[in-house]
Amino acid sequence: MLEIDDLCPCGSGSSYGDCCRQVHLSHAKANTAEKLMRARYSAFVVHDVDFLYDTFHPSTRRFQNKNAIRRWAVENKWIQLSILRSTPQTVEFEAHYLDSTMEIQVHHEKSIFKQQSNLWYYVDGQ
Ligand SMILES: [Zn+2]
Repeated sequence: MLEIDDLCPCGSGSSYGDCCRQVHLSHAKANTAEKLMRARYSAFVVHDVDFLYDTFHPSTRRFQNKNAIRRWAVENKWIQLSILRSTPQTVEFEAHYLDSTMEIQVHHEKSIFKQQSNLWYYVDGQ
């Protein structure tokens, strides 16, 4: 299990307690799309399903399913996040993980984020 003194899974170089955990405790701490993206990756690592669900933009949240999110988070072993490019509303990244058969996988995505009532939300990715 991840401790607050451990390096943050998002690769920032800060401790988890000083980095993504702050966002997990308070969504408003993600004051950029990239910070939310990083915190969502770390939420997969710590299996924070509620955070992942709640940070979907209201327009896409209704298509989400907490059990499916939990399965995806728990089934895979999350190795590393690489941010390739970010703009104010998009983040392109690679998430490296071991799948349930211990095969190394790379999930490459350009995610779109939207701000609503001063909070950033994940809309979807391609
Ligand atoms: Zn972090």
